[in-house]
This record gives sequence, C-alpha cells and structure tokens, in this order.
Amino acid sequence: MTARASRFWGRRRYAVIIVLLAGLAMWGCGPMRRTGPSDGAPRVDGARALERVEGLVGLGPRPAGSPGAKWTAEWIAAFCMECGGRPQISTWGEDTVTGRRTFRNVTVVIPGRRRQRVILGSHYDTKELPGVPGFIGANDSGSSTGLLLEIVRTVAAAERPPPWTLECVFFDGEECQHRYGPRDGLHGSRQHAGQIRVAGRRRDYRAMILLDMVGDRDLSLTLPADTDPALARLAFACADSLGTRDRIGWFRAGDILDDHVPFAELGLPVINLIDFEYGPGNAWWHTSEDTLDKLSADSLAAVGNLVLELIWRLPAR
Ligand SMILES: [Zn+2]
Repeated sequence: MTARASRFWGRRRYAVIIVLLAGLAMWGCGPMRRTGPSDGAPRVDGARALERVEGLVGLGPRPAGSPGAKWTAEWIAAFCMECGGRPQISTWGEDTVTGRRTFRNVTVVIPGRRRQRVILGSHYDTKELPGVPGFIGANDSGSSTGLLLEIVRTVAAAERPPPWTLECVFFDGEECQHRYGPRDGLHGSRQHAGQIRVAGRRRDYRAMILLDMVGDRDLSLTLPADTDPALARLAFACADSLGTRDRIGWFRAGDILDDHVPFAELGLPVINLIDFEYGPGNAWWHTSEDTLDKLSADSLAAVGNLVLELIWRLPAR
C-alpha cells in the first residue's frame, strides 16, 4: 500500500467512524453546521474552497482510468460522506480510442424543498499532456471540483434546505485523449445524461449548471453560445446583485464543447460557468502553467456565490 493509499484509507475510516457516532447521518447535522441567511442563499467561503482545491491537487495527476483518478473519486466520496451525504461512485468500462478504460462518476444528492432536481457538475479528471508529465490541473479541473465540494459542504450545513434538490456530480473522463468524438472525451457526462434518458427521468430535472475553470485570479466567466438564454439572464441579474457583473459575459470566439453538452442534448436548460480566458490568450490552459498560484479564493467565492444565488432564485417552469 502506498503512502497515498494509506492516507486515504485512514481518512475513510475516520469518515465511517463519524457516521457511526452520528448514528443517523442526516443533512444539516454534524460539527460543520452553520446558519445561513434565513431567506437567501448561503454564501461560500472562498478560503475554504481554495483549501479543497489544494487538497485535491495534492493527490496528484488524475487522468481517467489511472490509479490517481480512482483515489480522487474515493477522496471526493469520503469528503461528501463527512458532510453527511451518501455519495455514490458509479463505475463502468468503455472502449476508448486508446483501449478500454474504467471511469467513475461520483454523485451526491442534497434533498431540497422541491423534489425536482438541479444538476451541479464538475469534471475532476486531468488532461494527459505528453509534454507535461505530472500535469495537476489546478484550474482545470481542480478549481471547479474543489469549489463544488465546498458548495456541498456549505449547502449541507445551511439552516434551510435548498429550493431545488441538488444532484452534485463529479464527472470522470471529460478530457479527450486525441480529439473529441463518440469514444473520446465527455465520458462521464454522456454516461450520466444517458442514464437519465434511459430511465425516462428527464422531467425530474429543472436545469444543469456546469463549473469548469473557475479559479483564475483574473476571473472572467465566458458563457458559451449554447447557454440557455433565461439561465444566462438570471446569472447576469444574480451577478449584478452580488456586485460581480463585470466578471461574467459571453464567449465570442466559437463554441465550447464541455460536459454541459450531453445535458443540452437531453433538452435540459444548461449553463456552463467557465472562464476560457486563463492567462494571456488562454495561454495557461492545458500547460505546465496551470498551477495553484494562478488561482484566488476571491474568484472561487465569486463563482460559488453566483451558483448558489442562481439556484435560490431559479423559478419553476
Ligand atoms: Zn481541460
């Protein structure tokens, strides 16, 4: 057993003990309980979100099918358990352009005042870059995954349940190995959307919100053109009231193929909160420059608060 694996098992044993001591692990219980505003969305602590990102990135590279991806999925699930959730790791195999690989999505559901669900997603795998061995992907995909974990903790610890049931999904296999296609890239999101379609559960969902590359200290969210117009208007209004309207706009340089696409194809209203201007001319994206020093707690808090405000103000259809 490696040092990393024993750290994980130690952590999992700790999580299991907490659950046993708690007797009935219920949302809202536990030592991390915190009171949120009574009639508004809870707020995200950016410093804590950055700690989650650092913890995740500290696990090392996590390309789909690697031992690192497996450890990461288990680490994500252990954290969700500590928050009082009941995470599920779904594992499946797929033939990819470079052979068969095992993928794992981690899902945790936070019950809300309505039964209808909002999917909150982030991929957690890292790109395999031949020229960059050990690529850790601090922003892509560390930032969105760490922030989503902190959102899980924040919402689970809040005084009141969220207005919508939140289905938080940590996707594996977003990154392609060669070029995006049916057997390359978006594996986790296609799998999850496919399960909803096959089960005939499309109407159980109100919307899908994707987070990707959200930690850049120079935050500029660039919504892809296929974003649902009503969700975009609501996001702009929420950003306005949070004082972060100057941090969000449209992506003008083409389409962005990302984990929101399989859900858009399912007919769900989708919004992809992505900052595709990472460094000058997006120069830090998929390079050895994608490191923790490029991120900031303020950016994570800005996006986290935008997500929560969006969910709390999302009207029924
Ligand atoms: Zn990427």
